Order: sequence, then C-alpha cells, then structure tokens
Amino acid sequence: MNDNFYNLLQSKFPRDGSQPCLETQHVTHSYADLEEEAGRCANALRQAGLVKGDRVAVQVHKSPQNLFLYLGCLQAGLIYLPLNTGYTRTELEYFMADAEPGMVICDPGKLQQVSGIASRQKHIPQVRTLDAHGAGSFTDAARSTHSKGETVTCTKDDIAVILYTSGTTGKPKGAMITHGNLQSNGLVLHRAWGWQKDDIMLHALPLYHVHGLFLGCHLPLLNASKIIFLDKFDTDLVIRELPRSTVYMGVPTHYTRLLGNTDFRAHICSNMRLFTSGSAPLLEKTFTEFQERSGHTILERYGMTETGMNTSNPLSGMRKAGTVGPVLDGVEVRIVNDKADPVADGATGQLQVRGENVFKGYWRMPEKTAEEFTADGFFKTGDLATMDNDQYISIVGRSKDLIITGGLNVYPKEIETIIDCMEGVTESAVIGLAHADFGEAVAAIVVRDDSPDPITETDIISSLKRNLANFKVPKKVVFMASLPRNTMGKVQKNFLRDQFNFE
Ligand code: AMP
Repeated sequence: MNDNFYNLLQSKFPRDGSQPCLETQHVTHSYADLEEEAGRCANALRQAGLVKGDRVAVQVHKSPQNLFLYLGCLQAGLIYLPLNTGYTRTELEYFMADAEPGMVICDPGKLQQVSGIASRQKHIPQVRTLDAHGAGSFTDAARSTHSKGETVTCTKDDIAVILYTSGTTGKPKGAMITHGNLQSNGLVLHRAWGWQKDDIMLHALPLYHVHGLFLGCHLPLLNASKIIFLDKFDTDLVIRELPRSTVYMGVPTHYTRLLGNTDFRAHICSNMRLFTSGSAPLLEKTFTEFQERSGHTILERYGMTETGMNTSNPLSGMRKAGTVGPVLDGVEVRIVNDKADPVADGATGQLQVRGENVFKGYWRMPEKTAEEFTADGFFKTGDLATMDNDQYISIVGRSKDLIITGGLNVYPKEIETIIDCMEGVTESAVIGLAHADFGEAVAAIVVRDDSPDPITETDIISSLKRNLANFKVPKKVVFMASLPRNTMGKVQKNFLRDQFNFE
C-alpha cells in the first residue's frame, strides 16, 4: 500500500492525458504535461542526491513550474517547504537553520543572498533557481532528466509538507503536514463542495499557503479539472476570467476588491457554481453585498495551517453570514473554557479540533507540540468560538487577541461587528492596549468610507454606548486609511498594537 498523496492525485488524473490542466495567460499545460513535468522534477531532485524525508525549501514566484516542483517533491517522498516570497534575509536564515533543507530553490534575483546564507549553514544545502516564468537552473536540471518518475512509498504518517506558521507570537513554527492529512482533507472537501465533472477552478491565491496550495490545487486535481492559473490576484483579470470559471476560492479582501469595481456584476458570475472564502473573517456586510450584486452566496469555511479545513458552511442548505458553518465530516470540534470544560451552548470558549486532518506536530519542537495538544489528542487552535443551536460555528477572535480589561473579557469581534455596520465605516479592528488603570483597555482602529460627512470618534463611541456594556466600549478610536493586512487578508493586529498606545 502506497499512501503517497501523489499516488491518489495521479489515480484521479483523466485517462485522456491531453485534457487541459493548467491554463495561464500565456500557455496551457495538459494533464500529461503535468505528470511528465512532475516526474522530471522528482528525478532532478533524486539526481541531486536528495532522499526520502529531505527538505526542499522553495521561495519562488507562482508559476506552473512551481506546482510541478511541489508535485515532484511529493512523488519523490521529499518534504516540500514553501516560503512566502516576502520573507527577508533574517527570516530565511532562521528557516534554513531550523529546517536544514537539502536544497533551496529561489528566484534568480535572490541567488546571491540565498547562497550566502546557505554557505554559513551547518549542513550546506544545494541552491538552484526558478524564476517567475519557470526558467532557472532547477528547470535546466529537470529538462535533462527523463519524465517517468517513480512514486516513493510513503505511509499516511510520513511528512509531505512543512508550512511555517505566521508566528505572530514567538518564533515561526514548522507545521509538519502528512500525506494522510492531505488525503483526508482533500477527499472530505471534494465531497463537501460537490465537485462536478465540468468544474473549472479560477486560481488567484499564492502557492506558499494552505489555502492556495492545498485547497486551490488539490481539489481541482482530485477532480481532473482545469485550473485557470493567475500569477496573483488582480481584480480586472479575475473579472475577465470569471465568466468561463465555475469555482473561485478567495480571501475576504478579494471579495471587497471585486465589489469595489463597477465592472463586477451578476452576468460575470452566471457560469459560477461556487465562491468560497476563508483565511480571515468575512464581514457580514461583504457577504450581503456580494449576494445582492452577484446573486451568489459566498460559502465561508474555516481552517488553519496546522489542521487544514475544520468547518464549512454547507453546499446545499443555509450559509449563514458571520459563521464558518458546521464541522466537516471526519473532524471533531469542541469549545471549552479555561478549565478545559465544555462551555454552555452559545457561550464563547476556545476551539479544539481532532481528526485525520490535524498535523503531526511542530518540526523539532516536541515540547511546543505537546503544549498545543490535550491529553485526549485535541489540537488547541487558539481561536475563540461560539456554536449556535444549528451547530454552526462562529470565530470570534484569537485567544491572544482576547482583551482583558479590568479583569473582564472582551471579544474584539463583538465590537468590530457593530462598528462595521455603522454608516460611514468601511471596516474596523479592535485591539487591547496597555492601560495604567485597567491593565488593558479597548481601542478601535477604524477605516472610514469616503462619505462627505465623515463619522467621528464621538459618533462611534456614543453609538456603541447604546449597544454595549461600558467596559467593552473603546476608550479610544483612531482612524486609518486602511488596515494593515498580510497577503492572506489577515489584519495584522500586532502591528496595530505596536503603533498605538494610551499615552
Ligand atoms: P493560517 O494558519 O495562516 O491559515 O491561519 C489560520 C487562522 O486564520 C485561524 O486560526 C483563524 O484565526 C483564521 N481564519 C481562517 N479562516 C477563518 C474564517 N473563515 N473566519 C475567521 N478566521 C479565520
């Protein structure tokens, strides 16, 4: 039995290899091309001396070759380690020292820097290049090998990918994701989202994150579907390609940007079957406005690097705004208080998950791993959540975002939801800032819309006072032109906490 995830993918590829697999703005690759190219990558990695379990660190721009390389790593039983293209020298140094890759593949523009870092490592990795158009020394090596790759035997427990988590607190941790994790989550989502024979995926996400790599690529590949592959999210391009697509996976900022473009109208989406959203909370305002403008109801789901997807609004049935839906098949969730007891229905607590989707642990951090799991095998997500009577879950914040002011707990989401609905507000982020009296006090960072009569701090505070207990009302409101977000659309609250104070 070979549980290498590539084996499963390959078993789903169409019999007719000439069927289109990846279509970029310039070129179309068939499924036969994909198989051949993945085989060449696997062989090039083997020829370089890499053996099962070795890490291949990859910091490159999105391209079809980037996907071939990923599949080649899976096939060769190597551990794929994608790195955000935005990472700096210091971060790269840390990742290389921590993961000890056998090979680093980078953009030619970074060759000098990466080679410099590599030469100072205890275990010096080989360095190859791959540019945004798929050219480079790695591609040259792959071209000179043959295209039939042998799929190395792996168990479900073997590591397929290491993804470093954003690390907003402490050092980034490498989440070890196994072939079994990829298999279970891929199959569960393929079923849950009702993939159909003629589905065409429009892919505008990066490939270094669980969303764009696992969801955005695995699901269409498991379905032998065509992927319209965009280098990056671009509103005009997405609007141009939507009419010939059926599935789109976005982060909330994609949807707000589409709504901000007057060319985005219902007829553009008439071929579409499914829009999904995740990686960050989707504002109820965006959900409703999108429904009105496009005639489609966004399906919001929730997951994380360490767990893959845990919950999803249903394909058929009610998709509730502001919720991430019920738990997916094969995943168990529970919401507990500080004493690890289940909270009452509707109450807020910490979300824990268990299932085949949950990762194996943090790379070379057994103690950190042990801390993050309960004795009965649940992973502590660090997310605060509630569950309604229909078992739909809402994420109300991260536990580290929980504000404790004068000993009372404040969940930022509760306040953000009210502010976001105020006339004149585009969006908001609520944070806790150090305060001499209260330990921490609530502050709101607000982005105003362009109305001629801008909403003021007094307007916001007096309106909140009508809705909320006093301790939850921000002691301060600051206006910003936009909220700082990372590429996955997450608001970087740590930046806000560093930037503002009560002095
Ligand atoms: P990452 O590991 O980068 O995928 O980040 C995972 C985190 O993103 C989760 O722990 C949540 O805090 C957040 N997240 C993902 N999806 C959602 C969602 N639909 N709504 C709210 N938060 C989300």
